[in-house]
Amino acid sequence: MNGFPLNCSELWNICSQKLQTYFDEETFGTWIKPIIPKEFKNNTLSIEVPSNFFYEWISDHYSGVIIQTLTKICGFNVKLTYLIKKTDVKQIKNTDSTRKILNNHLSFIKKNFSNIDDISGLNPKYTFDNFIEGACNQLAKSAAESVAGKPLGNLLNPLTIYSDVGLGKTHLLHAIGNKIKQNFKNKIVVLIPTTIFVDQFINSTKANNIQEFSRFYRDIDVLLLDDIQFLKDKIKTQENLFFIFNQFHELGKQMVFTSDKYPNNLDGLQERLISRFMSGLTADINVPDLETKIAILKSKFSDNYDVPSSVLEYIAQRVNSNIRELEGVMITAITNASFQHDINIVSIQKIINKVASNDLIVDRISNVVASYFNISIEEILGKSRQKDVSLARQIAMYFAKKYTKCSLKKIGSLIGSRDHSTVIHAVNTISELMKDEKKIKNIIYAINKRIIQKTAEKI
Ligand code: ADP
Ligand code: MG
Repeated sequence: MNGFPLNCSELWNICSQKLQTYFDEETFGTWIKPIIPKEFKNNTLSIEVPSNFFYEWISDHYSGVIIQTLTKICGFNVKLTYLIKKTDVKQIKNTDSTRKILNNHLSFIKKNFSNIDDISGLNPKYTFDNFIEGACNQLAKSAAESVAGKPLGNLLNPLTIYSDVGLGKTHLLHAIGNKIKQNFKNKIVVLIPTTIFVDQFINSTKANNIQEFSRFYRDIDVLLLDDIQFLKDKIKTQENLFFIFNQFHELGKQMVFTSDKYPNNLDGLQERLISRFMSGLTADINVPDLETKIAILKSKFSDNYDVPSSVLEYIAQRVNSNIRELEGVMITAITNASFQHDINIVSIQKIINKVASNDLIVDRISNVVASYFNISIEEILGKSRQKDVSLARQIAMYFAKKYTKCSLKKIGSLIGSRDHSTVIHAVNTISELMKDEKKIKNIIYAINKRIIQKTAEKI
């Protein structure tokens, strides 16, 4: 652009600094950081992205904000064009010859997989067809489908899926394996929980057949490793996985990992391994919205049981933590109903009281605190920074920490969608104030008494 003072790298630098403050660290790291600016000409910025999947995802989700930011910086309308990075596709070894070697190792692996008859470790019950898609899991699901459709030489390698418990990581991992098994009959797919992987490694070290272990993993075609957080402090296993990883990667063979955290936040893992886990695509799964929860319950239960949809909706509204818990409430409800009652809202309420008690205790605490301060529950859960409201909110967090086993993150999500650091701050502030301020101490005692009274009424 004639007379425009910035070249394409400078323009992109400024733009990406602005985007860094706009996005959270994970989104920025996954989608913005890998972009390489190539040319800025005729008001059009060409950017290079790592893969077709990447292109489709950012052009659908982030192109608007990128274009807006560029336009703001330049002071005129900027267009965006994408170039997809050409990869130097490595020679991919024909794995047929390795299959012979592999057969020799099957006995080894069968010993170690004694509780399953199929070496793949796959549960046919978990498929893409019965995985309900919502905004919470859209990226993870479409990446998983991409990988399952092209398990050799896919650019999303590794795919690392992370989330809190019970949100569908293991389900997706099995779905990938099952799909590959169905469509690529000669591929050897292994899904293995990390705890078993670690045990196998330790046992092979003891039995002095570590080479056999390593060779087995090298020779399979697709590795699905569930819950990599359990590699924590297992230095030797990590080293071995690192080598397996490199061999897989070099041959373009697919790996998928799941983790309970963003890999960068995993403790006790070697940096180089973490950076490998994050070198493909890292996708998270969030808590589903109400509609998705109802759809999941319907798909799991409506065919076989006659559950009124008002009950499904009631459960979906009340159980906010994860899908496993949602299913737990539903299964208990169905079991109870078959013994004694119909499935109705009163019987469900009792079950929820037991199963999802933590959420309800937090609700109850928030209500007690709100009524003590004579403010509404909406104010406590809302954004107001008014002094009374903020204090009430902090007190609610303090009691939620005291009376439940909820994580800080969970408490934050239940009390007004705050993050865990806000909860820590609240708990510390109230604890400190109680030491020095008699007035606060009295308030806390009074509220405590009311919470205990309320709880007694419910039992
Ligand atoms: P995680 O591995 O993240 O702890 P799981 O994959 O074990 O979670 O999921 C817990 C339960 O929730 C499983 O029964 C799974 O089938 C179900 N589930 C999770 N997400 C979905 C979804 N989107 N659609 C249908 N079922 C789901
Ligand atoms: Mg799991």
